[in-house]
Amino acid sequence: MNISLKGEVILVTGASRGIGAEIARTLGLCGATVAGTATSDDGAAQITETFKSNNIVGQGYRLNVSEADECNETLANIEKTMGPITVLINNAGITRDNLLMRMKEDEWDDIMNVNLKSVYRLSKLVCRNMMKARSGKIINLTSVVGFLGNAGQSNYAAAKAGIVGFSKSLARELGGRNINVNCVAPGFIDTEMTQGLAEEQKKALINQVPLGRLGEVSDIANTVLFLSSDLSRYITGSTIHVNGGMLME
Ligand code: NAP
Repeated sequence: MNISLKGEVILVTGASRGIGAEIARTLGLCGATVAGTATSDDGAAQITETFKSNNIVGQGYRLNVSEADECNETLANIEKTMGPITVLINNAGITRDNLLMRMKEDEWDDIMNVNLKSVYRLSKLVCRNMMKARSGKIINLTSVVGFLGNAGQSNYAAAKAGIVGFSKSLARELGGRNINVNCVAPGFIDTEMTQGLAEEQKKALINQVPLGRLGEVSDIANTVLFLSSDLSRYITGSTIHVNGGMLME
């Protein structure tokens, strides 16, 4: 059985690299029209190029999700070109790790703005049209760290746990309009976010993973594909854990 996303207009934030780039590619190859975002014009142009070379319908847009005006403008531009967004993937995310005793207010605020407030902001922007259409899907990238905690990541873990509570509430608000809101919680995935870890830290992490390896971006993209498709139509307010068995829920 092939999954077809023909007719879907999908926004993937943070599609210039890592997990977001693979999500955009996977959904695009299944026939969706994809808007992928990067924080720079160069990054956006590169996304457009990548789509072209993969025969994916869509383009790159510049978007800093922590800027309210930019979110309003970019979403309006996307919808003018592509039509109403039918699936929103809130993927953009950053880390600003520090032990609490050393954590500066801006390290806390940056994480809340980029990782959590953006999810509120973009969900609110897309849900008016989804409510009118009585259909839509919102998929939010959280993290295993939001469930287990991680020393040095109290800001990141708080934002990621916040996304789960937000998604459950929104799923209750929008269920009657046939809009599904779900989360994907990756474990440790091989991207630039984890490439900064020391080899010893990586080994220690892998020791906690029953499947014995870091995850690949495709492991996450395939889960997002399932949640973007009609195959998951009776799932809402849930989190799918994709972590090699590191956390079993
Ligand atoms: P990544 O490789 O570091 O890529 C981050 C993406 O987010 C880039 O496309 C980046 O755009 C974009 N971005 C950063 N700041 C932004 C902002 N202010 N506004 C809009 N976009 C912004 O990250 P990743 O590892 O693929 O992670 C993707 C998501 O999965 C994140 O939400 C992360 O928390 C979550 N996650 C990752 C892991 C992991 O092990 N990698 C584990 C659990 C959860 P530019 O290229 O323009 O900077």
